[in-house]
Amino acid sequence: MIIVMNKKATREQIAHVVRSIHTWGLKAHVSKGEERTVVGVIGDESKMAARPFGALPGVESAMPIQKPYKMASREFHPAPTQIVIEPRVKGGLRVVMGGKKVVVVGGPCSVETPAIMIKTARAIRKSGATMLRAGAFKPRTSPYSFQGLGVEGLRILAEVREETGLPIVTEVMDTRDVEMVADVSDVIQIGARNMQNFNLLKAVGRTSTAVMIKRGMSATIEEWLMSAEYVMSQGNQRVFLCERGIRTFERATRNTLDLNAVPVVKKLSHLPIAVDPSHGTGYSDLVAPMARAGVAAGCDCIMVEVHPNPREATSDGGQTLDLPSFDRMVKQLRAIAQAVGRAL
Ligand code: PEP
Ligand code: MN
Repeated sequence: MIIVMNKKATREQIAHVVRSIHTWGLKAHVSKGEERTVVGVIGDESKMAARPFGALPGVESAMPIQKPYKMASREFHPAPTQIVIEPRVKGGLRVVMGGKKVVVVGGPCSVETPAIMIKTARAIRKSGATMLRAGAFKPRTSPYSFQGLGVEGLRILAEVREETGLPIVTEVMDTRDVEMVADVSDVIQIGARNMQNFNLLKAVGRTSTAVMIKRGMSATIEEWLMSAEYVMSQGNQRVFLCERGIRTFERATRNTLDLNAVPVVKKLSHLPIAVDPSHGTGYSDLVAPMARAGVAAGCDCIMVEVHPNPREATSDGGQTLDLPSFDRMVKQLRAIAQAVGRAL
């Protein structure tokens, strides 16, 4: 249910609406816009049906949210959401996801040796990246492929953040590791293969760490937004999405990067959206063109795989940029960001 308050509604009237919602066993979420306040109501829909929301003093209108996702919807929260990632180390970067600046995230697919990680982090920061990515726990198609460094990988990531000031994005695959990963990372990544692992979504929803949900390879945009809803329903509102390509009949690329998702998500939701052209294409020479397209389409973040020597990367080397290519790509993205009213 969305309750739109009158332009002239008083603070007392808004507080009374919120109190009534709580008395009826429902949750209220107040969004103060420039012109008016909107109160979103969440909870059991059968409990809502009989309640006279529209008759409360100061209420202009009350209408049900048509979409199955509520807190993730634009109706619920008309203004775009910004997620602030505060620095956790001295000299660390403060990152705003969903602001005017397009955030560039780079790093190897898997956590590599401390020397490789530090070299990569320093180089990408110099080029203009403001976050480092790398998986300590890796979802591999084959059980015989490298599975990631695990706990040791998390330790390396924390050390690299300490050295370079770059906040960290890393994946969690198991509910048992959520606390540990949330403790180290600035952004928890939910991988494509876990997009509908509802217990994992609920577990990260109980943390206060920002969460990036990658789109499942055959998930519709609505299913993806429902995954965001799962996290938000547990109390963690610091959620953004990442388009990383979907399965289609096309085999020339690893996946088909669905850039339609960028304006569609912007229309349906207030959550920021990232684009990952590394997994979206599967080939390093296709990464920069599709990153440019992502920024042109209006995404809030570009996340790519980078390694000083992609041929030696422990995973996904074929879609990984080397440091000079990454630097060239960021320069191009800066120009495109400016052309569409953003910055980088
Ligand atoms: C990754 O980011 O390295 C990764 C495994 O991504 P996805 O879940 O999109 O395949
Ligand atoms: Mn990868």
